[in-house]
Amino acid sequence: MNRRLLALLCVMPALASALALPSEEPVPGGIKIIRLPASANSAAQTPATPPDVDADGHRALVIQDGSDWIAIVGIPLSAPVGTRAVTIKGGSGDRTVEFSVGPKEYPTQSLSVPPAQVNLSKQDLARFEREKARIDRVLNRWTDSQPDDLLFDAPVPGVRSSSYGSRRVFNGEARNPHTGMDIAAPSGTAVFAPAGGVVVDTGDYFFNGNTVFIDHGRGFLSMYCHLSAVDVKPGQRIAAGTRIGAVGMTGRATGPHLHWGLSLNHAWVDPALFVRSRK
Ligand code: ZN
Repeated sequence: MNRRLLALLCVMPALASALALPSEEPVPGGIKIIRLPASANSAAQTPATPPDVDADGHRALVIQDGSDWIAIVGIPLSAPVGTRAVTIKGGSGDRTVEFSVGPKEYPTQSLSVPPAQVNLSKQDLARFEREKARIDRVLNRWTDSQPDDLLFDAPVPGVRSSSYGSRRVFNGEARNPHTGMDIAAPSGTAVFAPAGGVVVDTGDYFFNGNTVFIDHGRGFLSMYCHLSAVDVKPGQRIAAGTRIGAVGMTGRATGPHLHWGLSLNHAWVDPALFVRSRK
């Protein structure tokens, strides 16, 4: 039995209590953990009904902890430093919980790629726009099942870069910052689902190459890019540890690696916060 499956079995008897939590880091690209005591929730909440926590128009992940709930709120990388708020909806009225977002400096990374991958042709730009809308639809999904894990092994062994958040300069031109973790590994290395869920989309994207999206429940989704092979199909329910594909360098990549993205409430957050053995 592999380690991921064993980890899943170990948490199964304790589903009514909180899962092991990711590392809290209330900065742009990080997460804020907010405890919602049952006594503070509206009478409309039952132990089986998660409170509806709104983070900038997107429903936030909540997990059960006995009779209480815990919200795990993704903070977009573009969020300004300062006060931020979520709204807990329902019952006798909405309630706002404020929290502070602190500063975090991210490095600048300069990369060289073929010019057509930086200044897109009209045709490629149209393709990119279509794909962006498709990714938005995936990240907007809400499935009301609690994720089976929030702290897990990286999907592939290899050197994990700390490039999440890097400001990206391609061929000398500033582009969008990096919103995932890159893990360097030889082409063909198996990629495993770090947590269970449902495969919600696969496809060949202009920048991301061959990509798999997994819905882990309650607005928590993951993305695996630049794959050389995709071994799962949309609609497929998979357990933690299922092989989903293989490392490659399809799309815009300077070498074989896995780009791993984690999204909470439609915000790409730093996957390092969710990796069990952080090095
Ligand atoms: Zn990447």
